[in-house]
Amino acid sequence: MTTKNNRENIFSQLRKDLVSGTWVLFSTKRNQRPDCFKNRERKNEKEKNEKDCLFCKENISNQEEDTLVYTKKDNDWSLKVFPNKFPALSSEYKDINKREYGPFEVIDGIGYHEVLVTEDHNLDMAELEVIQIAEILDAYQDRYVSLMNRKHIKYISIFKNYGYDAGASIRHPHSQIVAMPIIDPDVFRSINGSEEYFRVHTECVHCVMIGWEKESGKRMIFENEDFIVVCPFVSRVSFEMRVYPKRHLSYFERITDVQKIKLAEAMKFCLSKLKKNLNDASYNMFLHTSPCDGKTYDHYHWHFEIFPKTNTWAGLELSTGIEICAILPERAAEILRK
Ligand SMILES: [Zn+2]
Ligand SMILES: [Zn+2]
Repeated sequence: MTTKNNRENIFSQLRKDLVSGTWVLFSTKRNQRPDCFKNRERKNEKEKNEKDCLFCKENISNQEEDTLVYTKKDNDWSLKVFPNKFPALSSEYKDINKREYGPFEVIDGIGYHEVLVTEDHNLDMAELEVIQIAEILDAYQDRYVSLMNRKHIKYISIFKNYGYDAGASIRHPHSQIVAMPIIDPDVFRSINGSEEYFRVHTECVHCVMIGWEKESGKRMIFENEDFIVVCPFVSRVSFEMRVYPKRHLSYFERITDVQKIKLAEAMKFCLSKLKKNLNDASYNMFLHTSPCDGKTYDHYHWHFEIFPKTNTWAGLELSTGIEICAILPERAAEILRK
């Protein structure tokens, strides 16, 4: 390690693995979060009480740093977006400061980490009206467009954790938006795989899968004019769901108002099914869309993935990268459709 590169007070740093080529994010502020290392059940009990909730109206001031606020007729807010108090990346860095540590490549974790909250402590996405979910999608798009052209930003991850088992440290319904200086390994694989398929077959791999799923119908859960939801033939976890636009669309940020309503319908359907048919399972939901690094990705097909928290990575998964799925997607779709 060269001492001139050895910075004190590392807050957010990306280190590239020499063998796999994937990046790992080190973010030391994250372990200062209020819930960290606390007893999970006690925390759960405590947060049932709205007066202790950090995201409830009584405890959240009208902060100057709010980046987006949607208000209702009475001028009270219904949705707001603000910087995460414990960000994984920092907007304070001026540059990525790419450097070498021995044989390794390191960059500073420059980026933006925002939180989106809706007003009601007890109404999660599954319980909101379709129009309210469309409002969340509208805010996703608004923030995406605002962040995508900033210096060094290559990918914007939008995700939602629901339930403690899925990593939601605060019960109050919220989503997160993370703008990053790299294209993350999962998206990288997804983009590359889609590109390779396109090169060989001159067709979008996702369009092919959607067409086949529609014909078969076995793994389909929901369909409207613009969106389709399936349990993928090669699901990575039990009850995994993917929400696809039926038309070939590569850039989420171009979603129209009509498509937001249709997507909101699809999401409400899926999330309600998790609540009713899977005993209110915890889940992670995230967007996969084209990177915003200035290149074109017309072969890609954006979509949302929903991963119910059903299995934990143990020895076999960690040692081989092979995930074990305890239920066939055909059966999972049957259960979810009910
Ligand atoms: Zn709350
Ligand atoms: Zn497509």
